[in-house]
Amino acid sequence: MRFEPVIGLEIHAQLKTETKIFCSCPTSFGAPPNTHTCPVCLGMPGVLPVLNKKVVDYALRMALATHCEIGRESRFARKNYFYPDLPKGYQISQYELPLAEHGYVDIEVDNQIKRIGLTRIHLEEDAGKLIHDPNLPQSKVDLNRTGTPLIEIVSEPDLRSPAEAGAYLRQLRSVVRYLGICDGNLEEGSFRCDANISIRPQGAEKLGTRTELKNLNSFKNVERSLRYEIIRQKEILADGGLVIQESRLWNDARNRTASMRGKEEAHDYRYFPDPDLLPLVIDDRQIEKIANALPELPDEKKARFIKDYNLPDYDAAFLTAERELADYFESCVQYFDKPKLISNWIMGDLAALLNAQGKTITQSPVSADNLAALLRLIENGVISGKIAKTVFEQIALTGETPQSVVETKGLTQVTDVSAIEDVVLKVIGDHPKEVRTYQDGKKKLLVFFVGQVMKATRGKANPKIVNEILSEKLESKQLPEV
Ligand code: ADP
Ligand code: ZN
Ligand code: MG
Repeated sequence: MRFEPVIGLEIHAQLKTETKIFCSCPTSFGAPPNTHTCPVCLGMPGVLPVLNKKVVDYALRMALATHCEIGRESRFARKNYFYPDLPKGYQISQYELPLAEHGYVDIEVDNQIKRIGLTRIHLEEDAGKLIHDPNLPQSKVDLNRTGTPLIEIVSEPDLRSPAEAGAYLRQLRSVVRYLGICDGNLEEGSFRCDANISIRPQGAEKLGTRTELKNLNSFKNVERSLRYEIIRQKEILADGGLVIQESRLWNDARNRTASMRGKEEAHDYRYFPDPDLLPLVIDDRQIEKIANALPELPDEKKARFIKDYNLPDYDAAFLTAERELADYFESCVQYFDKPKLISNWIMGDLAALLNAQGKTITQSPVSADNLAALLRLIENGVISGKIAKTVFEQIALTGETPQSVVETKGLTQVTDVSAIEDVVLKVIGDHPKEVRTYQDGKKKLLVFFVGQVMKATRGKANPKIVNEILSEKLESKQLPEV
């Protein structure tokens, strides 16, 4: 029997507000433990939470960017459980009435666009962090993160493969970063994902029993854990067994998932509306204001890049995945109007350089105007494409302009026909055997001669002119006496 995977993701995105969701403690990262705390986020008796307005604005941006219906009156509830990183003994979260529902995002896998439904987006607060030191008999807790605002984004079970799950996660990450509401870092935990997965016979309507995978702190782990779990569940069903609904923890080192807790231990959170917080009421004016201030989003930007710059789909997707990269590309185009040439260099040499140095585009050692100037030098025939690679390396190293590198290193391309002709004749004179082989029909040797001429000119001869002169001389019957 053929089985089909069914996947739904729950994503927690930390919102980049300056203060926490229900108190004025800072959310900034890296402070000494338990210094960003106050009676409210420590859960002292007698204190009252006050909702941070900015949190609502940020969540609404996401809801509108993902085409959700906004709940005009949503509610905060208490999710009760005991754990040392949760001083109040409950987490404030939206439960029955979320801020937003019924949205979607479009993803692209194998050149196919697919629409993935969003069940809901709701607001909640983060818990603290436990620190387990193997050298101590006890664990420690840091409550700086307690009360950091989160949005939880729950997808419909619309994803059908690990690749689709990866594409969906990347798309959402791109959107939150475009919106400037979350830095989208899976490794550092500001953008966290739990993956729910079941399998069912191909063509079946009814969903299979799902497991929930946790501890997926990279794109790679999301896809790897799903691939592992698909195989595990298939084997169980093929043996006539039943998948147990449970949470499973991804173990990166052992490359497998393992059960966290059984059903008997499943939580009963005893949700109830938080009596300390009023219903959250959103009106048309607020929605309109936020909708009008939304930036151009990745899909829109990609469509515009294809249309305005005549770029292939692949290039447009690459360049618009990050807003800053798209901005860099557009500044290059302002300096030098050859979009496809610029795109090739960004996706090739520049991406390789940034990757090697572990830098983002905003830290690029080659500025947009320097890249554009370099490409203009190639376009105008001042340097060859090959020399341009050397110049690129140099400007990346020193920050000099390409013009100054070309001048000080004397890299200007030789386009003088008679100068190139001299070198061609010398190369032909030096290789009588190869000349005969060429004239006997082995035309592929042209590449060898071109190489020799380029070597003799240290790469500075214009390759087009070299090719022309070489072909002409080699074909001619009156070769110089050799
Ligand atoms: P919970 O809060 O208990 O985790 P939710 O109803 O919020 O449950 O669902 C969590 C996620 O699981 C959603 O993304 C949903 O699409 C997905 N999901 C639900 N049922 C299945 C299933 N049978 N197979 C795969 N995914 C599922
Ligand atoms: Zn506080
Ligand atoms: Mg869940």
